[in-house]
Amino acid sequence: MMRKKIIAGNWKMNKTPSEAVALVETLKPLVANDDVDVVFCVPAIDIIPCMEAAKGSNINIGAENMYFEESGAYTGEISPAMLTDAGVKYVVLGHSERREYFAETDETVNRKVLKAFEHGITPIVCCGESLTQRKQGIYIEWIRMQIKIAFQNVTADQAKTAVIAYEPIWAIGTGETATADQAEEVCGAIRQCIREIYDEATAEAIRIQYGGSVNAGNAAELFAKPDIDGGLVGGASLKPDFGKIVNYNK
Ligand code: PGA
Repeated sequence: MMRKKIIAGNWKMNKTPSEAVALVETLKPLVANDDVDVVFCVPAIDIIPCMEAAKGSNINIGAENMYFEESGAYTGEISPAMLTDAGVKYVVLGHSERREYFAETDETVNRKVLKAFEHGITPIVCCGESLTQRKQGIYIEWIRMQIKIAFQNVTADQAKTAVIAYEPIWAIGTGETATADQAEEVCGAIRQCIREIYDEATAEAIRIQYGGSVNAGNAAELFAKPDIDGGLVGGASLKPDFGKIVNYNK
């Protein structure tokens, strides 16, 4: 099966609404590529203006997080229905920065993943090891555990449509990218884990991204690997270089 590549920008806490609109306008002509699903995951307050600015283009606007409750007394949170009403189809869940600074756990990530599917939003489920875990040689075990918990009670049909982002924490925002072989080793192990939880068809369908200092210079080599179906891109998604990453195959 030929999986369609998915390349997503993760803007993190960058760009005010007016700056966000300007960036969408700048990137719109640069990110056209029918071979790839293109997603801009933007701060919640930028979603609606970006949606407007991206109209008529191939850009999908996604969210960077959401809560697992439907509505109510959860000050400051964004519900899945708020996202779908705004037209959002993708949400990043369990990013390592949310785990580190906002106390997200594998369990809360699982609750969010289930909620996203319930609302027809495709989760981009993040996983990845720290430098210590890599040095200790326990990174595959660690990531398998993250995946198993994140996908608890997720059906095979749902999992087939999911996106997983493998992001080694030591490679995020550091300029130190995993080599294509290192990234492929883990993305292959994640696919194997999905094969064990579900079946071959699910393992073949699910899309697995690499994230961590992806740039215009290393994207093509990373995305050429058989188990790497695209990227989750932080810093470089805020620059015209993102157009080169999306057009890695041209
Ligand atoms: P980076 O971030 O590309 O700036 O390393 C990736 C991410 O955190 O998603």
